[in-house]
Amino acid sequence: MAAYRTPDSSVNDSPADISPCFYLADHPPLGGTNEVRYALDMPELPEVETVVRGLRAAGLEGARIREVRVRWHRTVSGLTPAAFVRALRGRVIRRLTRRAKYIVAELDNNRHMLVHLRMTGQFRLEPPGTRADLHDRLVLTLADGRQVHFHDTRKFGRVCLTDDPRRHLATLGPEPLARAFTVAVLRQRLAGRRRKIKPLLLDQGCVAGLGNIYVDEALWQACIHPARRAATLSLAEVVRLHAAIRAVLRRAVAAGGTTLGNGDTNFYSVAGRRGRNADRLKIFRRTDLPCPRCSARIVRIVVSQRGTHVCPRCQRASPS
Ligand SMILES: [Zn+2]
Repeated sequence: MAAYRTPDSSVNDSPADISPCFYLADHPPLGGTNEVRYALDMPELPEVETVVRGLRAAGLEGARIREVRVRWHRTVSGLTPAAFVRALRGRVIRRLTRRAKYIVAELDNNRHMLVHLRMTGQFRLEPPGTRADLHDRLVLTLADGRQVHFHDTRKFGRVCLTDDPRRHLATLGPEPLARAFTVAVLRQRLAGRRRKIKPLLLDQGCVAGLGNIYVDEALWQACIHPARRAATLSLAEVVRLHAAIRAVLRRAVAAGGTTLGNGDTNFYSVAGRRGRNADRLKIFRRTDLPCPRCSARIVRIVVSQRGTHVCPRCQRASPS
């Protein structure tokens, strides 16, 4: 495997997070830099996994797409809306999977539809005859009349079609919940890296699927300060971090993801349910509350321009 490298000076988790098909079509990117970062960050692996499971549970695997309406042209990336409609109409969705924060729909003509929810994208399954609302950017009508609405208040979500999903997703790092993601793999990804551990974990080319919530949670669980240089982590720390990343993600998947607020822009499952993981977060957005492990007061700091939550007692800034 070729060694994975990005410039150590890079603090932004920007273009590496999105595959070329999304990025090129969006160039120049979305707007204010914070907006871009958050758009790329959320939802994270557990939320996207929850959406994929919801689409499967709704019987979308095996469903034929009868009609396609593009209601916001930029939602479709790399194709004109008319070409997208022609390419998708009449196709059967064979399989729905997830890679990093992408939803991957394999079609019956061996093309793949890739979806990145980017911040406010949601899928809703609606009964026949439902009128699309203002924020529905894409509507697929299935052969049985049901409608799949891609609802996206902020319009950052993107959908594209590709014959070669591997090429589009080639820059992504390993799946942290896959069996192949071993301590040795994580160790190799961090070895020699001068970057701070938090931005490195946010970089989708290092490990796929993590964003601000789960990186803060995993680093807290592993007792590692987010501003530590990756290369300074001891083997024991890498072992702890590996276990923490997997535990934090597994717990969130089991809870159906994390929904933080109450508005339309927050995360909801295909069935319209809130993720139950917010109550289980140990450190994220718990500034001034006691650390669940040592009772010290949780603080919010900024690491590589990202709001970051740490326990100043459990997570020491210098290597232990
Ligand atoms: Zn603590």
